[in-house]
Amino acid sequence: MDAGAGSCNACGAVGTALMKLSLGKDFFGRAYDRLSPSSDQSPKWYCEPCSMQKNLQRDFRDIRAEFEKLTAGQISELSQTETFQRAALRLREIAAILGATSHQSPFLAAPDVAHLIGRFQTTTMQA
Ligand SMILES: [Zn+2]
Repeated sequence: MDAGAGSCNACGAVGTALMKLSLGKDFFGRAYDRLSPSSDQSPKWYCEPCSMQKNLQRDFRDIRAEFEKLTAGQISELSQTETFQRAALRLREIAAILGATSHQSPFLAAPDVAHLIGRFQTTTMQA
């Protein structure tokens, strides 16, 4: 908890508990680059709903990036069927959570998630 920020860096909420986004492993178990202190110069503080959605956005971005590699014929985490299915499940989970929340955050647009789910399904059918 940091008193210096005062408001959520995403939605601007004040008077609520703010948390610095915890750094850890990404969806594919890789460490984030900004785990190193030198690259963590501008920490962001988020209220709880934004923090949650930021995590969803991170997973979504990671999955989308690997999916782009896969469709481009490059080496991808999603080349493994098990990982691909896990990612597909996670996308559905993200869509469900987004659909259930009324909290507006700038991180994720539900249509983007739905679009990627559609592309996943197309790819599955071709396999
Ligand atoms: Zn917020």
